[in-house]
Amino acid sequence: MLPSTDRLITQLVMASAFVALSTLAHARIDNQLDSQIDSQINSQIDEQQNGQFNGQLAMEHIAQQVSFGPRTADYSGKQKTLNYIQQLLQPEADQLVVQPFQAHGLSGNNLWASFYAADPKQRSQPRIMLAAHWDTRPIAERDKLPANRAQPVTGANDGASGVAVLLEMARLLSSQRAPVTVDLVFLDLEDMGNIDGLPFSIGATEFVHQNRFYRPTAGVLVDMVCDRDLVIPQERFSRDGAADLQDQIWQIARSQGAEVFKDRAGAYIEDDHLPFLRAGLKVINLIHWPFPQSWHTSGDTIDRCSADSLQQVGRVISEFIYLQREPL
Ligand SMILES: [Zn+2]
Repeated sequence: MLPSTDRLITQLVMASAFVALSTLAHARIDNQLDSQIDSQINSQIDEQQNGQFNGQLAMEHIAQQVSFGPRTADYSGKQKTLNYIQQLLQPEADQLVVQPFQAHGLSGNNLWASFYAADPKQRSQPRIMLAAHWDTRPIAERDKLPANRAQPVTGANDGASGVAVLLEMARLLSSQRAPVTVDLVFLDLEDMGNIDGLPFSIGATEFVHQNRFYRPTAGVLVDMVCDRDLVIPQERFSRDGAADLQDQIWQIARSQGAEVFKDRAGAYIEDDHLPFLRAGLKVINLIHWPFPQSWHTSGDTIDRCSADSLQQVGRVISEFIYLQREPL
């Protein structure tokens, strides 16, 4: 298990206390030795931080995606983002597949990267899926200005934030495999719902169809998790289909003091967890509710995002996946 935030804080406090003590005890020690001690301690702290989910690094993944432009059909940002995810994961993952599909007259790509359990005997079960949609909405129909409504959203929160959490998690998994196999699943075409009669979650539905054999023990979907005023209540489809899993996640959140997680029921939200729940899989959704003002507007930009919000979500999920457990 990774050190919990509390333990890390204790270690940091102890490290700074050591600096203070050593400064007092060796007031006359020469500067060179002092700076050696400092750099030793700093590198210990860096090492501990490296093993932790870093919200700032996740923010950088949002910035990259946003810089590619909209991740929707007819924009080059879509292919660039697919390449970006693939290039980051290809050298690190034990297995990576891109699964193209055609549905409702549209073409899409789901991407699936697996990081096998540290112990080969644990490779197939238990198995945890982390999922997010990587496409963005082609229209900003809720924008105040009618002129903006036909434009695609930037999707810093609605799209890029979930992907960013998965990519930062990939960094942790690359440096230290978890006790369970972890699948990072990037789903396409979530956000076409109610456009020309299309449904939401086209990519997720295809993923479940194409991979009927795939039965993860637990799954966590992240969607819209970077807002600086992030609030995540207990989404209700998740509650109905996977209450135990939701309780486990909320228990970790409580123990970490991750205040974006709220101990109250949210709404029933149609999202990419539904096709999985319908297939009898335990998958919960971590999603901002009520949706932020920026949702499906031209205001869904990175200046609304916060590294702290991402980090709270990421650290809860990383404790969940690194937990030494009996089969779930
Ligand atoms: Zn959306």
